[in-house]
Amino acid sequence: MGFEKFGQSGYLSQTKVTPLISYLEKGVVVGTRCKNCRKLYFPPRADCPDCRKSEVEWVPIDGKAKLITFTQVYFAPPAFEQSTPYILGLAELDHGLRVFAPISRDIDLKELKPDLELVLKPKQAGEGVFYQLEKPA
Ligand SMILES: [Zn+2]
Repeated sequence: MGFEKFGQSGYLSQTKVTPLISYLEKGVVVGTRCKNCRKLYFPPRADCPDCRKSEVEWVPIDGKAKLITFTQVYFAPPAFEQSTPYILGLAELDHGLRVFAPISRDIDLKELKPDLELVLKPKQAGEGVFYQLEKPA
């Protein structure tokens, strides 16, 4: 349910990052690494805002994440409307990367607190794919 149009209007503001979807379909969360300055980005970026080069490589991201904060979303962009209300988390990944992602419905709102250990994982939803924060296995 919902999120079918992932990438069209949600968390990815950059274009040229469609490989992310194919990786997610294979069950891998990937970011991009700038080939020039080696800086790692998630969500992926086609261009490095740091050194302004556009040579990037796709690298798998270790999904280990720590919750920083979260919010309950009642009013979402059109592509996400059917899924409301849902919980959107801000989490810190390894390398200090920060990600906004929906939190799995398997996790009770009462369990959520800062520093909670989570894992960022691809999630199939109908024809589409997106990623979400889940409980570690
Ligand atoms: Zn760079």
